[in-house]
Amino acid sequence: MGQDLRSYLDTVKRRKSDEFQVVSRAIDPAYEITAFVVKLEKERRQRPVVLFESVKGTKFPVLTNLHASRSRLAIALSCAPDAMLQTYLRAMERPVAPRVITRAPVHEVVLRGAEVDLYALPQIVHHQGDAGPYITAAISFAKDPAAETWNCAYNRLMIQSRDTTSIHLTLGKHLWEFQQIAEQRGEALQLGLVIGVHPAIALGALAIGSIDEDERAIMGALLGEPLELVKCQTSDVLVPAHAEMVLECEILPGKRTAEGPFGEFTGYSLGERQREVVKVKAITHRRDAMFQDITVAHLDHMLLSTIPMEANLYRAVRAMVPSVRAVRVPAPFTCYVSIEQRLVGQAKNAIMAVFGADLYMKRVVVVDHDVDVFDDRQVTWALATRCQPDRDIAVVTHARGSDLDPSAKEDGYTAKWGVDATAKPSLAAYTPRHRVPPEVWERLRLEDFLPGS
Ligand code: MN
Repeated sequence: MGQDLRSYLDTVKRRKSDEFQVVSRAIDPAYEITAFVVKLEKERRQRPVVLFESVKGTKFPVLTNLHASRSRLAIALSCAPDAMLQTYLRAMERPVAPRVITRAPVHEVVLRGAEVDLYALPQIVHHQGDAGPYITAAISFAKDPAAETWNCAYNRLMIQSRDTTSIHLTLGKHLWEFQQIAEQRGEALQLGLVIGVHPAIALGALAIGSIDEDERAIMGALLGEPLELVKCQTSDVLVPAHAEMVLECEILPGKRTAEGPFGEFTGYSLGERQREVVKVKAITHRRDAMFQDITVAHLDHMLLSTIPMEANLYRAVRAMVPSVRAVRVPAPFTCYVSIEQRLVGQAKNAIMAVFGADLYMKRVVVVDHDVDVFDDRQVTWALATRCQPDRDIAVVTHARGSDLDPSAKEDGYTAKWGVDATAKPSLAAYTPRHRVPPEVWERLRLEDFLPGS
């Protein structure tokens, strides 16, 4: 199996040719790329992978909307769409260690020092009000300066000059922790920013777990073979050898610069903040490299992040409530859980498990197993008919959450709420749901009463 973006695209072209759209006409990277993708979805209900061959101001073609379909992501994991959660869980349970190689397609072109020019890349501006062009599809690869722990994450990057960007490090998360350690030592944190990868690598990068869980090994398990890594030209950082492009960088200690506003997955354009500064030491890429963009805040972005989140939350709830049935992240900071409640109080345990497992989670709703969490109407019905707010809502005050939540007074300092919408004291003892007698339901045939239809 190929572990590069190109072999995955070949598979998509072969198996779902109508989901690969090439655009030859020149497009402006400022707003037009995002507008094209979103309009295609809203007006035509289409969400193909899109390759813009001609992008104004750059020689690089732009690939976007790669992750905007569950069935395409399932192809990347070689499984059925409804088996993605189980496939992802298995990869977390049985990671596959990466392998280091010495010759890599991503080193076909190496640009260093004065040759580094971020303005030669597509200058993609996504939404009105964004402070400038952003790189949204870069995965950071970094090592803990004090240990052998590696981390991968998506971090938005605003292009600041020919060789610098700013970086958004989610407060309290793993790369932020590495940066804290490096900065306390007065050191720059070495970083590889990787653009244009197989979706299994993208999904693995978004694994949520303990800081010592190695996302690179989850990528390997998702690929079904060890991820092949190569050492950067200017540091010891290891990056995927088959990527389209790598920015070899360091985060400068003690430096901050203005970043934002930027329209995020929350649906809001968040204001300017002081963020860390990234110096780009080298750009390496394939000879005919594609540049990848993620259509931020739309399906391309949301589906990609939801699958790893749901797998981790399912794992965490299952550790506490073995009879968990399903977990869904339907909206930012929100989680629905269904459980087959065998003991009084398990719904509350499920709520605590979710809060303990994911920094971003702020609202949890737990329902019984007769409620389909993938149907918003059913969840709303359970909330209305099985819940007494003075008894069933638990509020946790003064916790850490997302620093992108505009409702928080201070970045990321937030309250959280969990709602137990299970029937009490148990579903079996609860007022029964109405139904037609089963023998009538079985016996009645519509065609007997609708002759000729
Ligand atoms: Mn991590």
